[in-house]
Amino acid sequence: MRAEFLGIGMTSQRTRERLAARMAELGIRNRQVLNAIRSLPRHIFVDEALASRAYEETSLPIGNGQTLSQPFVVARMTEILLEVSPRRVLEVGTGSGYQTAVLASLVEKVYSIERIATLQALARGRLWDLKLNNVTLKHGDGYAGWPEHAPFHGILVAAAPPEVPQALLQQLADGGRLVLPVGVSGGQQQLYSITRRGDTFIQQALDKVTFVPMLGGTQSSGGFR
Ligand code: SAH
Repeated sequence: MRAEFLGIGMTSQRTRERLAARMAELGIRNRQVLNAIRSLPRHIFVDEALASRAYEETSLPIGNGQTLSQPFVVARMTEILLEVSPRRVLEVGTGSGYQTAVLASLVEKVYSIERIATLQALARGRLWDLKLNNVTLKHGDGYAGWPEHAPFHGILVAAAPPEVPQALLQQLADGGRLVLPVGVSGGQQQLYSITRRGDTFIQQALDKVTFVPMLGGTQSSGGFR
């Protein structure tokens, strides 16, 4: 049944190699990140109708009005996070689960929170299929972080809050790093890396990006758009 795992057509190993090569051209240096992109089947994270576009440098719709970020943004955020060698990472905005899969193949343990139950269920199935069992998912509001498992060496946020959520700063381990887009929805947002040194938070502004907004609360059932 799962012909895509056999490496056929648009979804072949060669297509993935090309995407990794493109990421390197765009400036991704971390070999582990490039290897993860090379080995993970991105097409299983989107609807079958979009599978042929899964290896393009583009963002793709994943349902419920949400999008899977373009590969470069995923690679860049991961690369910045890995600079502090995190072992345990919190992700906010599981979405399709692709970014989760990238992280899970690079660090010891990933905790990931998603506010839309439907998306979370789909992501769970995909991560299961890929046998990535170092991931724990939660349906909830990422603004609260995940205090039971804090502190985290790395926190990656895949949706843009209007300002940096305080709970996430508090759940950062000493020496840990938070990577997130900040800004109002609709407009351009700024990607930041915030590194904790004791009680000091060192903030660095990175690229301009476009993410879906980080919303409060949870959504339990379907919804078509
Ligand atoms: N990294 C994802 C990107 C998904 S888009 C991927 O690879 O597919 C961002 C996701 O953040 C959406 O699924 C959205 O529902 C989720 N999100 C938005 N606000 C949230 C919040 N407060 N808590 C948890 N998830 C949130």
